[in-house]
Amino acid sequence: MSQAQNNNETGKVIRPGGTIGVLGGGQLGRMLALAGRAMGYRFVTLDPTPDAPCGQVADRQIVASYDDVEAARALAEQSDVITYEFENVDADVTGLLMAESYVPQGSQLLYTTQHRLREKRAIEAAGVKVAPYAEIASAEQLREAVQRFGTPCVLKTATGGYDGKGQWVIRSLDEVEEAFATLSKAKTELVLEQFIHFEKELSVIAARSPRGEVKAFPAAENIHINNILHLSIVPARTSESIQQEAERLAMRIAASLNVIGLIAVEMFLTRDGQLFVNELAPRPHNSGHYTMEACATSQFEQHVRAICNLPLGSTELLTPVVMVNVLGQHVEPLLDWIVKPESEQVAPGVTAKVHLYGKSESKHNRKMGHVNVLAGSTDAAMQWIEASDIWKSNN
Ligand code: AMP
Repeated sequence: MSQAQNNNETGKVIRPGGTIGVLGGGQLGRMLALAGRAMGYRFVTLDPTPDAPCGQVADRQIVASYDDVEAARALAEQSDVITYEFENVDADVTGLLMAESYVPQGSQLLYTTQHRLREKRAIEAAGVKVAPYAEIASAEQLREAVQRFGTPCVLKTATGGYDGKGQWVIRSLDEVEEAFATLSKAKTELVLEQFIHFEKELSVIAARSPRGEVKAFPAAENIHINNILHLSIVPARTSESIQQEAERLAMRIAASLNVIGLIAVEMFLTRDGQLFVNELAPRPHNSGHYTMEACATSQFEQHVRAICNLPLGSTELLTPVVMVNVLGQHVEPLLDWIVKPESEQVAPGVTAKVHLYGKSESKHNRKMGHVNVLAGSTDAAMQWIEASDIWKSNN
């Protein structure tokens, strides 16, 4: 605890040299550790898989399941500050970590974002719009709400869903019984959302520190394939006023929810310029990976700065960028490409920065890495991606 310094006005400061404990050892933890180590911090991570992506670059990995209270205690003992890289953290573990170590992000934000209904209420309380929704407890209620919202509409489990899992797009009243029966198996509350015929999906990552400083990264335009993020395009191809409005909304949410660290805010933009928040994630986010080379500060450095209570870094965009994900099916063509001479790799004015997560098993649709394509314009970056053989197979 020697690296921690108490300052009554601004909260505790963790200076470089201190140890950051990361619950979860996936790629987000890995990139956090890489950024934090460059700043002089040490890392310990807890993850059940030996040699996890974060474990490979941390000082130490504790190999144990996420709900192992003894392992969490060991993490607490070894850390000056603790963070997490996924939001479904067990409540008992959070409680223990908060009692025995320093968890500046607290438990309230996790409690809110682990549950779609609580999350929607918190977003509304911040004065920000979400798609009209209804809590669903029975097939009858679902039928009534589907009639009210019209089809299509989206039934979602309140907890546990990600990348489009735990969702059912209801296209006709005939599907009500089956949709309810199927999603009810998840044994969690259900929520029905009106379908937003969005023009684009945007996301903004905002950071807030214990001193109350709030900064947002530039809005990203996100393109999904099979519900998995494929591209993040920055600047988003929309008006500057909409980009600024998206950034303002994210900062408003960060302040209203007393966020410490990062909050990723996913939004739908409609044709008439309205923004509806779809989801929050209280951690670094795939749609913020573009910041690694394209911004003055990466989302990972910003998260370290925020939880350690250093001044937040500049979020200035240095270059247009398109981030493209590397899924299991893209790894082989990427590895064939990466050994080619530079002249055959990229077009003039295009730089492709490859990030691979060190996962031993490459599975179809599993996130294995990403490439940040920097160019004079997002069009030039997109053209290179579209012409490349790497992303030809997406199904
Ligand atoms: P989610 O798991 O909530 O992030 O949803 C996954 C994807 O499903 C989103 O990125 C959207 O493409 C789509 N989606 C979810 N909810 C809605 C909605 N209410 N209206 C339209 N599309 C939606």
